[in-house]
Order: sequence, then structure tokens, then C-alpha cells
Amino acid sequence: MRFEEYAIAGELKRSLGEFGYQKPTDIQFRAIPSILKGEDVLAIAQTGTGKTAAFAIPVLQLIHQQKKDRQAPFLRAIILAPTHELARQIHEVFQQLGKYSKVISLCLTGGVDQAPQIAALKKGVDVLIATPGRMFDLISQGFIKPDKVGILVLDEADHMLDLGFIKDIQDLTRLLPRKRQTLFFSATIDAAIKKVAYSLVHNPIRIQISPKNPVAKNIDHRVAFIGMDEKRFFLERLVHENPDSRIIAFVRTIVRAERVVAAMSRVGIEAQSIHREKEEADRMQVMENFKLGKVKLLIATDISARGIDIPNVDFVINYDLPEQAQNYVHRVGRTGRGKEKGLAISFCSPGEKPVLEEIESFLQKPILVLEIHPEDYRETLQMALDPNEDWKSLLKEAEEGEKGGKKTRKDSSNKKKARKKGK
Ligand code: ADP
Ligand code: MG
Repeated sequence: MRFEEYAIAGELKRSLGEFGYQKPTDIQFRAIPSILKGEDVLAIAQTGTGKTAAFAIPVLQLIHQQKKDRQAPFLRAIILAPTHELARQIHEVFQQLGKYSKVISLCLTGGVDQAPQIAALKKGVDVLIATPGRMFDLISQGFIKPDKVGILVLDEADHMLDLGFIKDIQDLTRLLPRKRQTLFFSATIDAAIKKVAYSLVHNPIRIQISPKNPVAKNIDHRVAFIGMDEKRFFLERLVHENPDSRIIAFVRTIVRAERVVAAMSRVGIEAQSIHREKEEADRMQVMENFKLGKVKLLIATDISARGIDIPNVDFVINYDLPEQAQNYVHRVGRTGRGKEKGLAISFCSPGEKPVLEEIESFLQKPILVLEIHPEDYRETLQMALDPNEDWKSLLKEAEEGEKGGKKTRKDSSNKKKARKKGK
């Protein structure tokens, strides 16, 4: 079935066409009719399968329909997301798909001045796409009145209902009308969180697609065993061998992120980092640079693991393994989106093997191993010597070359290139 045949407004069909959406994805096909009927939905589908439009299309349709009689805007729907970046991205989808509709949407995140947000709220808004912090500030200041909100959407629902946010969400639901529609979307959910979700709704329709394999099928994901102190050399090699590729490398901490950026910079590779301690303007700039391809290597903490949709990310590298097993699914899910294919490689040090086991038990299957031949391993370390030591090794190699015609470092990397080309 094509979107053309859906019982939705012509204004939405027009923007869907312009957006290049012709047919619904599986999750859209399953979720849209239920949401249009007013049902509560818990929808679990793999990363990159179009969950945003699965709620954006019916929410826009329902509100557009309500507004036909030229009603003034009032707050009818709240969409909550865990990060500023994701809230902005969802807002973009609402704006693009809602371009010809009567629906007014606003993105509300912290980190930026609240005055323009208050001004926009005063003018009237139908849909709010927000991170919880700023939204609660503005509720307590009296600028947001959620008492007529008929639809609440939690994107990345398991994360939103996780310890950090659950109290906020419960407080919010107390302010909403009793009769409302609640929608949960995520790629992962466990039994405990499912129970919390159910406590917030009445008779939800549960929609689950490919539950047996949480990693999207377009993603080829492998684990490579690499020593902790040697990871940077392998990242360096990957970048050099794939100069046109877009790569996201995930690290465990903010300090690690900055260290990797510095290590890459020492060998002439430009990388930028994104994490919670960055100023909002910097975070936006980094995302923009990466999306435009100005910077090809993004070093991220788990902040960007959830929901971010950047086309053509060729590789996801788990430079450090994620501490929470479900984040493995979200991190590798930044590649292989929509119809694209992607490759994800986890750099696993000996100390991280227990974490790997946890991830594998979460996935209920082992991750294929990317075998690195010992000679390749040695060569990677050799090719990527720190530039501070480089002149020393060059001198040493030159001396050895003069002495006994031994292979120099240059020879070996040329040989490597030739071998790669010949493949
Ligand atoms: P998810 O939330 O499931 O991870 P997104 O909503 O971010 O996935 O969508 C992933 C990608 O698929 C986006 O680039 C989006 O534009 C694209 N997409 C979504 N729905 C469709 C559709 N019906 N036809 C074509 N592309 C789509
Ligand atoms: Mg999403």
C-alpha cells in the first residue's frame, strides 16, 4: 500500500511525496492505523526503520483534522526525546511532513536561551518536541499548560522510562488529561521497562517487529580483538584506508573522547567530539560539520547513540565497548539506516571480554569475529607510529636499510597499498 492510498490529508500526502516517501516501512504500516484510531501503542522496531514518521504522520493527521475549523492553536501533543540532537531531528521531520498542514510545532531543549521559546509558546503551539529538563522548567514557570494534551509520545521509550527520567514522566502524566493517547517507540525494551510503560496506559496495542534480532539486518557487525593501548592505531589505519568514509567512533567517557581526538590530530586526522560537556552551539556545529562531510570522523559518547539519523555513515566503531548492553544495538544502529548498508566494528581489549559476553547474551548470539592476522596487527602498529617517535624510527630504518637491505617502513606501507589495490 502506498501513502497515496492512505486516509490522510492531501496536505500530508504532498509533503510525503516531496520528502521522497512513497510506501510505508513495516513499522509505519503497522503503527499508523492504530494511532489514527486513537489506540495506545508500544512499538518496538529495529534502528533505522522509520519509527519517527510512524508517529509523526498519524499525529500530524489527527491534529490537522482537529484544526480544520480554524481553531486557534493549543498544546495537543508532547513528544519527548532524550537528547537535544534527537529532539531537533524529530522537530525537523514534523516541520517537513507538516509543511502544508495546519499544525504548528516547536522544539524545546535546554542549552539555549529560553526567551524565544517562551515567545513562540505565547503565539500558540500544537505540538511540542522536547527534552524533559527545559520542558519541566517552563511548565513550572507557567508557560506550558499541558492540561489539554491528548497525545504523549516517548521516543527511545525504554531510555525515557529508565531511572533518570521515570519520575519526570510520571509527574508529567499527572498533569495531562485522564483521557489521552500514549505512544512508545524504541528499538529495545526489557521486561521491567515494559511493565513501567504499561502502568502509564490502558490496553496498549503492542507492535513488535523482528523481536529475535535487535540489530538491524543492514548492519554487518563484528568484533576485533585489539589491545587497549593499540586501539588508536587501528582507528588511524581504518581512516587512512577509507579516506572518503564517514565514521562514528563511540567511547566510554568524555575524557576518552578528547584523548582520541588529540591522538588523531597528532597523526594528521581531523576528528571532532560530541558529548554532554560541550556547549550547545559547539554540539550543533559538530553535528553540522559531520552531516555535511566537512569532518569525517566523529568521536562520541553514548549521548549520540540514540536515534540520531545521519545518512551515509559507513562505519560505527565501538572504540570502547558500551557499558549497557542495549546501547550496543543503538550505537551500531547509527549505520545501515533505511535501505543503506553499514559496517560496525567493536574494538575489544582483553579487559573488555566480560562486557562483550554481556552484550552477546543480550543479543542472544555471538558477534562474528573479525580476525586480524598477526602480521597485519604488527604492521598496523608499525605504520601508525606516533609522529614524535617517527623521526627516530625513520633514522633507525634508514640505518638498517643501508646496512643490510632490510625492509624499510616506507617499503612495507607501499607493499600494503599495492596489496590493497590488487584485491
Ligand atoms: P528509527 O527511528 O526507526 O531509527 P528514523 O525514523 O530515523 O528511524 O528513519 C530512518 C531513515 O529512514 C530516515 O533517514 C528516514 O528519512 C527514512 N525513512 C523513514 N520512513 C521512510 C519511508 N516510508 N520511505 C523512505 N524512507 C523512509
Ligand atoms: Mg528513532
